[in-house]
Amino acid sequence: METRVLIMQLAYLVSAVLFILGLKRLSHPDTARGGNRLAAIGMLLAIVATLVGEQILTWQWIIGGLLIGSVVGGFMARFVKMTAMPQMVGLFNGFGGLASGLVAAAEYLRYSMGVAGTAEVPVDASISIMLGTLIGAVTFSGSLIAFGKLQGIVTEKAVRYPAQQFLNALLFLGILAVMAYLTVMTPGAIAGADTSTVNIMYYALWGAAMLLGVLLVIPIGGADMPVVVSLLNSYSGLAASAAGFVLNNNVLIISGALVGASGLILTRIMCKAMNRSLANVIFGSFGQVAGKELVKGEKRTMADVNDVQADDVAMLLAYAKQVVVVPGYGLAVAQAQHKLRELCDNLESRGVSVKYVVHPVAGRMPGHMNVLLAEANVPYNQLYEPEDVNPDIANVDACLVVGANDVVNPAARDEPASDLYGMPIIEVDRAKHTVVMKRSLNPGFAGLDNELFYLRNTMMLFGDAADSIGRILEEVKQL
Ligand code: NDP
Repeated sequence: METRVLIMQLAYLVSAVLFILGLKRLSHPDTARGGNRLAAIGMLLAIVATLVGEQILTWQWIIGGLLIGSVVGGFMARFVKMTAMPQMVGLFNGFGGLASGLVAAAEYLRYSMGVAGTAEVPVDASISIMLGTLIGAVTFSGSLIAFGKLQGIVTEKAVRYPAQQFLNALLFLGILAVMAYLTVMTPGAIAGADTSTVNIMYYALWGAAMLLGVLLVIPIGGADMPVVVSLLNSYSGLAASAAGFVLNNNVLIISGALVGASGLILTRIMCKAMNRSLANVIFGSFGQVAGKELVKGEKRTMADVNDVQADDVAMLLAYAKQVVVVPGYGLAVAQAQHKLRELCDNLESRGVSVKYVVHPVAGRMPGHMNVLLAEANVPYNQLYEPEDVNPDIANVDACLVVGANDVVNPAARDEPASDLYGMPIIEVDRAKHTVVMKRSLNPGFAGLDNELFYLRNTMMLFGDAADSIGRILEEVKQL
């Protein structure tokens, strides 16, 4: 083996090891930052080894690209708001898919324009090109729709119509047929394919795959979105792996497989958190048509709730033995994590036992609440999962729901007609007292009313969570 290639392969091996060590370290908050850094170093090594080793570009281009990428990345890390992170993750997935699809397209063009220097395209190469195109295009368009849903540009609700799954299946079969035609049925069809038929079929494949991505994501909405976000993350890994096969690049195959596998594990965790199977999330709308009435009963108003002030809540919390804090998306919007920690520290100094209970789908991206609380240095051993507290929640003196809604909605437990039905919740409605902090009676992401707000043992503290917590803290300090 040529020395240059040997060095490159060794660099790839080191990168792959760094990726695996980085991933392992991501599994605990204390080591996660270090893990991220290790993986980033691995990625830098892989990129530099490829660009230098393959002698694809001159130094000016490599350094220019590194500088532009670092500036854009640094800028986004500093200035993209925490609440916009989920959309950004969605876009990243999409761009990963697009990049992989473009790699496949570039390879297609190399063969079809006859610049690859071969008259024959090996079947494995054309299969890789087709798979790279399909997965890349589906990931790209699907992620754009997920981005739109999280950004509020596309409806957050599930878009359903009759025979939806049947039409999707038909489209998928059509795509498979085109792929089979271009690879297995006419081996080498791509080589020198200046014939318009083959080119048209390849571009039609792009169009159909993009359409499939859109159609696969639009019927998923509401509380099922975390599953889509993690599934698309997994697809972006598969797309990268496919690009690795197209380019015959080991590190791309390995890193793509790692992203694909970890995305699938995350998808499983999200499905478990929703108590749904993956098939149920993706095909759940089988045979259904939009417009189902989900919430029974009359429309409730402000007159039906127990509206309280900060001083009432301060009294309740300061003299409680046990307080359970449930953070939700509103905590991220209000950026109230530091004030929340200050309040909880104050309560603990008074001998109150405080537990933060994090629902796996709280917020707008997997791990959203963990990131927020870690930012405020909340000790990891104070974080609990719903199943840790639910069995004993009836003995909890006060639950403090900070900007959470769907994850504490009793309809998920009690209302078979509800879209949330079956999702495990944090059962704050069974605690002795519950304080809900939000700005209005508006529903959460799933768009469903929440009976919790109208229960006798629930107190509503309206306003921005950061302001409300600040006021409670002032009151607690005076007690
Ligand atoms: P929800 O979206 O159910 O509710 C958030 C609540 O926060 C709203 O009802 C809102 O009420 C309140 N809020 C917003 N801003 C503020 C503020 N400044 N101060 C106080 N309250 C505020 O959040 P949950 O965390 O309970 O549930 C997450 C939902 O998002 C689930 O349905 C989940 O499936 C979905 N989802 C999760 C993803 C993930 O990966 N975790 C990804 C995509 C979707 P108001 O406007 O009245 O203030």
